[in-house]
Amino acid sequence: MDSHAPASSKPPPDGSANYFDGMSSRRRAVTLRLADRLEILEDEQTLAAWAYADIRRADSPAGMLRVSCLTAPALARLEVRDAVLAGQLVSRCAGMDDDIPGRRGVAAIIGWSLAATVSIIAVVLFGLPLAADRLAPLVPAAFERRLGDVADAQVKKLFGAKVCDNAAGEKAFVKLVTAIRESAGLDTSVQSGVLSSSIPNAFALPGGKVYLFNGLLAKAENADEIAGVLAHELGHLKHRDSMRGLIHDGATSFLVGLLFGDITGSSVLIFGSRTLVTSSHSREAEHNADSFAIDVMHRLGRPAKPAGELLFRVTGKERDKGLTIISSHPLTEDRLARMSREDRPASRPPLLTSEEWRSLKSICETKI
Ligand SMILES: [Zn+2]
Repeated sequence: MDSHAPASSKPPPDGSANYFDGMSSRRRAVTLRLADRLEILEDEQTLAAWAYADIRRADSPAGMLRVSCLTAPALARLEVRDAVLAGQLVSRCAGMDDDIPGRRGVAAIIGWSLAATVSIIAVVLFGLPLAADRLAPLVPAAFERRLGDVADAQVKKLFGAKVCDNAAGEKAFVKLVTAIRESAGLDTSVQSGVLSSSIPNAFALPGGKVYLFNGLLAKAENADEIAGVLAHELGHLKHRDSMRGLIHDGATSFLVGLLFGDITGSSVLIFGSRTLVTSSHSREAEHNADSFAIDVMHRLGRPAKPAGELLFRVTGKERDKGLTIISSHPLTEDRLARMSREDRPASRPPLLTSEEWRSLKSICETKI
């Protein structure tokens, strides 16, 4: 078959085809000239000249060769029905079946995504703790409060919890928190509440919110235990530890969200909120919050040790659990030991009367 002969040894074959210029939908009957380049002619006028290397096969029905060109408008197409002419054209186009730009684009996106994933992991592991430390003090208070509001809603949703507001309990809680807050030198922008969740925990949210889960209240035996824990959380607030944590975890999930195309603010914060509640801050942040709490309890003339006893009652001995090395937060027994060491006997009356303490314990009970 002479169609396999080198192009240069024969006069360039011609043939007719249909051409769409990619600008209008008009189909043009054209003549093809297989010269140095593929020349597309209409009435002896050259409409276009495509380099063979740039010609790519496009989807087409059987019995037709349809091609596009990398350097032509994206929608430009040439349709060749003549099998011999089509064969001639194909034999000249070495890149005919190479990746079309669309597929190459997808490959590039996958490549970039992999690169992005690697760098995001690197940032999360190495960059964020540093960045969070530097960024936290720079976050404006108003923005922090807004973030706190979002985190607040997320926490309540995540734990199916609502604020307990049984009147007598609320009154006792406000009395306790106010005493601690004033002693801690924090202003009235601090908000706090008891949430109806059986998880024994307390936490601070950015923007000045401290929450106590009812589960912790249930395990507490006196007001000093709860006061110490609340003072600890106020310490986190004062040091803006939760803002730091949220930048860290929020940024982590923000970056992960970016990766998967989910950058809606609220879902991003779920991860951050969850971490705020369930895990602790750095060893240093915990140590400082404990120092703060011990100090506040001293100023209130109340013992600091009960908070440590409550925590110990909740977690048990942690050293036995083999967490010593990997744990990023101080062991409960070490915290208790420290609070015991730095404890002072009570020099003032209890923060709540026994009546008020009972009311606080039952703050999540709804009266009939
Ligand atoms: Zn803490």
